[in-house]
Amino acid sequence: MVCFCFLVDQRKEVRRSKPAAGTCSRCGGGASVADMKTATRFCFVPFYCKSWRAIVCTFCGAVLRSYHH
Ligand SMILES: [Zn+2]
Repeated sequence: MVCFCFLVDQRKEVRRSKPAAGTCSRCGGGASVADMKTATRFCFVPFYCKSWRAIVCTFCGAVLRSYHH
């Protein structure tokens, strides 16, 4: 059996979002303020989790601005 325990992946997840003023510089779509959650997993076990807020494009998903805290 092959072990893939060296595998590290990261998931970015939008927990909630609401419309915000501004447009995307990439596609011109509408922006929204989103509460993001980034989970880093090692060997499919989450070991690091970070919550942050960002302004993202609702159309293409680009992160226009992020607020780390
Ligand atoms: Zn966009």
